[in-house]
Amino acid sequence: MVIIMLGAPGTGKGTVAVLLQEKLGIKQVSTGDIFRKNMKEGTELGVLAEKYISKGNLVPDDVTIKIVEDRLDQPDVENGVILDGFPRTVKQAEELDKILAKRGKKVDKVINLTTPDEEIIERIVNRRVCSNQECKAVYNLVLNPPKQENLCDKCGSKLVTRKDDTEETVRKRLANYFEQTSPLVEYYEKQGNLLTELVSKSINKLGKDVAEDVVSQLKKD
Ligand code: AMP
Repeated sequence: MVIIMLGAPGTGKGTVAVLLQEKLGIKQVSTGDIFRKNMKEGTELGVLAEKYISKGNLVPDDVTIKIVEDRLDQPDVENGVILDGFPRTVKQAEELDKILAKRGKKVDKVINLTTPDEEIIERIVNRRVCSNQECKAVYNLVLNPPKQENLCDKCGSKLVTRKDDTEETVRKRLANYFEQTSPLVEYYEKQGNLLTELVSKSINKLGKDVAEDVVSQLKKD
């Protein structure tokens, strides 16, 4: 099964993807995590990606598509994958369809998360992530705070703020989302596999509620 997490930055794609990974037993693959790991290790890819990510821009399609294509050939995603943060452009979506078709697969479900704009900035500015690359747990100081200040509940490592989570970069990422990624909503609507979920504290619906909804929806399909 191939599931895609779609949505603007800060809507909770990563949180829902990790919960779905646990509930469905299929692997989450986040292109953002792959870039961050490479940035931390100072690889050639990391140096290139940082130039774009630090400005709130997307990493070029050819680089990103190649990474995903290689990743999809790994044995741990043979039976299923949750793509978190890919595709982000129509070109990436078209190429993904081709990559999957070559392997006798297709996109089965696209989870499109939406959150009111005013909540997005607040969510991102309060986001903290575990500095341990093997853990990568995500917290929100207001909605989902760690039990001990600045320490990860799961592994005890220090929590940090992502470098691209400044208000200025977030605004740029949001603008890029609406320009380059939001056309994918129509792209997948036409394919008939889109499931849109509102994530908002105003209706008391957060990542864990959405993950439950998605699992029950998948059972009905
Ligand atoms: P994320 O962790 O999904 O928020 O991604 C962090 C950053 O990595 C994004 O703001 C982009 O700069 C870059 N990135 C992640 N996924 C992609 C993608 N599919 N295409 C281009 N850039 C990406």
